Amino acid sequence: MTAKISRRDLLKLSGLAAGGLALGLGAPRNVVAGSDNSRHGGDPSQRNSYFDSLKPYIPGSEALDPDEMRISFLGTSCIPSLSQAAVSVFVELGNGECFMFDCGTGVTPKYFALGVTLDKMSKIFLAHNHSDHMGDLPYVYAFGQSFGRVWPLYVWGPTRSGFVWKDPDGKYPLGKKPLEDGVADICAALKKFCIWHTESQSFMYTSINSYDVPKPWDTTGSRCKDAYDIVVKELHWRNTGKNSQGLANQDNVAYHDRSKGVKITHFPAVHCREGAVSYKLEWNGLSMIYSGDTKPNQYMMRRQKPVRI
Ligand SMILES: [Zn+2]
Repeated sequence: MTAKISRRDLLKLSGLAAGGLALGLGAPRNVVAGSDNSRHGGDPSQRNSYFDSLKPYIPGSEALDPDEMRISFLGTSCIPSLSQAAVSVFVELGNGECFMFDCGTGVTPKYFALGVTLDKMSKIFLAHNHSDHMGDLPYVYAFGQSFGRVWPLYVWGPTRSGFVWKDPDGKYPLGKKPLEDGVADICAALKKFCIWHTESQSFMYTSINSYDVPKPWDTTGSRCKDAYDIVVKELHWRNTGKNSQGLANQDNVAYHDRSKGVKITHFPAVHCREGAVSYKLEWNGLSMIYSGDTKPNQYMMRRQKPVRI
């Protein structure tokens, strides 16, 4: 007799597989026989069919227990299509907290399908500023207020890359100084990009007097309160949490809510050029590493070990 295993138990057992996806290590090879591998010439080793064996997930049908963390992949492709959005991972904690990692093109309908509305899409951690990681920011920012987010949008992401075009002829206008390509630059441009929208919608409530920016999020001291504010925390992409002598200095803490035991740190990603980061979220003895895009690196490997927070 075969023991019945629920979908949730299967997902827990497959935590290593999901971790592989989160780490960008690639999905495991085929572990379930009998699925359609015709697209791959019938070679079962070329397709992961494990998740085919799971029943469809119905949003709202699986309540999160207080000690659980749920990680949902809303999109994982750099080329969005009708069935697949660009990049975003949603992390929900049993204490009610939730976090977005990246906000790529086309992910908003996926969030809505999951039953997650824009008021819950308030805390966004960007791995880097490729369009497939931030393409839905204009909608999430500008329409958040219409979905009840009467507080600022909070965005974490890398500082400027420091990149300067090599321009021997001196003709390229951006060749004189480092690119203004940090997350604060991106968010300032986003506010300008959306100005027609935000002004035309400003007859509606955009803030509440009783709202006070939670301390772990108030990274600027500006005490922004309005839905059309963006509170940005820039993270220096070189920081690793250690100084040049190898001693811990906590310079890579992106977010730390001690009252709820949630800590998110960052570390360098190896991707295209300087200025990309990966994240590690720790809570309740659980942890999740989100690479964004990266090649395998020692920063990531070391952080697979649990850290006391
Ligand atoms: Zn990228």
